[in-house]
Amino acid sequence: MQPMNAPATSLQLVKTPLAWNNRFHRLGAPFFTPLAPQPLPAPYWVGQSPSAAALLGLGEHWANEPGWLQALSGNQPVSGTQPLASVYSGHQFGNWAGQLGDGRAILLGEAHGWEIQLKGSGLTPYSRMGDGRAVLRSSIREFLCSEAMHALGIPTTRALCVTGSDAPVLRETVETAAVVTRLAPSFIRFGHFEHFASRGQHGELKTLADFVIDSFYPDCRSQPLLGDNTYASWLQAVVARTAVMVAHWQAVGFCHGVMNTDNMSILGLTMDYGPFAFMDAFDPGHICNHTDRSGRYAFDQQPEIAHWNLYALAHALLPLIESPKLAEQALEAFQPLFIQTYQGLMRAKLGLGGVPEPALSSAPPEGNADGASDNPNDAKTVSTLIRDTLALLAQDRVDYTIFWRRLSHARAACDYEPVRDLFISRPAFDAWLLRYQELSSLSEQGLEANLMLKVNPKFVLRNYLGEQTIEAARQKDYSGVANVLAVLQRPYDEHPAFETLAGFPPDWASQIEISCSS
Ligand code: AMP
Ligand code: MG
Repeated sequence: MQPMNAPATSLQLVKTPLAWNNRFHRLGAPFFTPLAPQPLPAPYWVGQSPSAAALLGLGEHWANEPGWLQALSGNQPVSGTQPLASVYSGHQFGNWAGQLGDGRAILLGEAHGWEIQLKGSGLTPYSRMGDGRAVLRSSIREFLCSEAMHALGIPTTRALCVTGSDAPVLRETVETAAVVTRLAPSFIRFGHFEHFASRGQHGELKTLADFVIDSFYPDCRSQPLLGDNTYASWLQAVVARTAVMVAHWQAVGFCHGVMNTDNMSILGLTMDYGPFAFMDAFDPGHICNHTDRSGRYAFDQQPEIAHWNLYALAHALLPLIESPKLAEQALEAFQPLFIQTYQGLMRAKLGLGGVPEPALSSAPPEGNADGASDNPNDAKTVSTLIRDTLALLAQDRVDYTIFWRRLSHARAACDYEPVRDLFISRPAFDAWLLRYQELSSLSEQGLEANLMLKVNPKFVLRNYLGEQTIEAARQKDYSGVANVLAVLQRPYDEHPAFETLAGFPPDWASQIEISCSS
């Protein structure tokens, strides 16, 4: 067997149909180290996403074309690419961690407006104590979750495929190596800006900011909305995208697990899938990362942590914004936008879209219950109902996804018994149902019920589903990867043949411990 970190023996270039345009590479030396991926012995396919392939204009059978398997496992260089590992820094668990960087990811280049990155492709100058590799387990999780989040309408990086190898990789036990091919318009993180700001490299800071603004936020230059200041307006736009992303997480019951500033996308995309979890039994304080002892990244902390991370970004951008007051103003956009988006998503989940939207400045869902009026048509009454719904789910630890799906069907069938069955405290549920029915009677029944089935997914990537898929893949059965992917890519459809993937998690699911180790 070839040693893990041996240089590529064959320099034959793989020719692809892609037209490469490597914009990040053109930023120049301070931003990265050019280097090729390290070969992975005897690679094989684990899974591919046809919808991600379509983003690159690749046809249905692209993976059968010669060269791709070797190219995307890092074994052969690809014609037109300029591979590199980028440098960034960041705050980890609230502490300044200094320089980090792409320790196991290599950006091949950019095609069709998508950066193509190999994660797990060997050592880089930023690997620190790591081995540059990723294991099959975490690679399958990232692959499936990226594509699932996209199908749920949540901003995210995408995943084209996973390739595996029998090469051993040491984690808590010996596992095997894999590479995820990820796609994003850009993989630039908050930490990239923190890196140059922390070193006083304001020229590089400006170059990077200008690149991101011109490429992805052009309106901030042509029509700066905040104090006629391009950089403050851009910060505000990043604040807005981040608020929208986290509002989606809270509504769908997604816990990221490692919201360090180096894992925060400057484009407001969910990225760096690690110990994430979709909520099974609803617990607002759920901690999905076994390593997160203090619960810094618990489910209900996520909005506040996103805001904290944006503060760190704002601090890094101050040399460009020049006005602390404008930076403050940009950050102030977070809370109202988060609340507005979150409330809108939750109203849709409840099927109360026909009831007027809450005002931008209305109280958060945790707001004062006493403020609710008796008028069922009032936005505050809806936000109080949202809060009380979550309290009821938390009290009985009701399964989050199943509750919303059953509620959608119940509304259509006018039969709430299957929802009632989920609760231990029936009187509390009955009291809630009275309020819910009073409000829902105000909106168009049939239409709303239909819409509810389009916003309350039947299928999410529960941890135990991931575990089962991974276990089969370890035995070289990759049919589960393909099936689970197909179902998660259409999470609102019924998929009668895959009913088992929509059931309650088994008892052992609550014992699953996912740490940062990946
Ligand atoms: P993460 O917690 O996955 O966001 O990673 C934090 C930092 O550690 C980043 O700089 C990663 O590139 C790096 N890193 C994580 N795992 C490894 C590994 N196995 N080898 C090298 N670097 C790694
Ligand atoms: Mg990371």
